[in-house]
Amino acid sequence: MNQAQAIHRVMHEIKRRRLEVLRVEQLTPRMRRITLGGPELAGFLSLGADDHIKLFFARNAEEEAALGSLVLGRDHTGPKPAMRDYTPRRIDLERGELDIDFVIHGDGPASTWAEHAKPGDHLHLGGPRSSLIVPDLFDSYLLIGDETALPAIARRLEELPAHREALVVVQIEDAAERQPLHSAASLQVVWVERHQADLAEVVKGLQLPAGELWAWVATEKGLARQLRALLLEHHSLADEQIKAAGYWRADGTAEDA
Ligand SMILES: Cc1cc2nc3c(=O)[nH]c(=O)nc-3n(C[C@H](O)[C@H](O)[C@H](O)COP(=O)(O)OP(=O)(O)OC[C@H]3O[C@@H](n4cnc5c(N)ncnc54)[C@H](O)[C@@H]3O)c2cc1C
Repeated sequence: MNQAQAIHRVMHEIKRRRLEVLRVEQLTPRMRRITLGGPELAGFLSLGADDHIKLFFARNAEEEAALGSLVLGRDHTGPKPAMRDYTPRRIDLERGELDIDFVIHGDGPASTWAEHAKPGDHLHLGGPRSSLIVPDLFDSYLLIGDETALPAIARRLEELPAHREALVVVQIEDAAERQPLHSAASLQVVWVERHQADLAEVVKGLQLPAGELWAWVATEKGLARQLRALLLEHHSLADEQIKAAGYWRADGTAEDA
């Protein structure tokens, strides 16, 4: 069995929770950390660095009334709040805290909520439904993303041991969006400012770390597809060595509207 074949998914029982905003911290001009807590956080489980939870946002009084009793499935017909995917950035069940880092990008139910969130507000969420387990079998890790991927990238880096190598490429708006990234692994970070360089060109020019490599990509959907093709065709990686995901869509269509 090669390293990539050891990657597997673990399913979890889906729980819905109503959590309270405990703290808000402006990490950078475009990134806000919301710390959530409350009795319903008990038992929250997130095993994978790129796990995601669904956040629910009511856009009108009908959806607000439905939030408390929402059971979503194929046959769902009632009011359906906006649903957006986010990464549990940090979980500390002893302190009863869950951090979510929100990119403040402009209008959108999630971004707008995060921009105005304050202690005492509430947020409804569900999941994670599953976790992708990437066992520590690779020599090196190539992590490529934009600001929305930073929470997952930071989690992956924090779990890597000292004898691994990580090459991280992050597309950001400008230098003020750089965040400190910590890892025991040997770490190289390339920050790519959106209006100064083309992420695909930067990825094309990368010298990839030696050894067995795991490549992970999360950016705008069209760009993620382009980067995946580059890794396959230009860098000759195998399909099974790559996970590339679209984290948002420039055409404005969100997965669950
Ligand atoms: C698995 C997964 C994990 C994710 N984790 C995180 C996370 O931890 N933190 C985080 O901030 N995001 C994360 N995202 C991305 C987030 O779900 C999207 O950015 C989402 O569209 C934001 O919803 P919204 O309601 O703010 O805007 P939407 O209603 O979805 O979109 C409104 C408008 O904003 C644009 N837009 C949406 N997102 C962005 C953006 N990032 N930059 C510029 N324009 C944008 C759209 O094109 C649209 O025109 C994750 C996505 C996935 C799939």
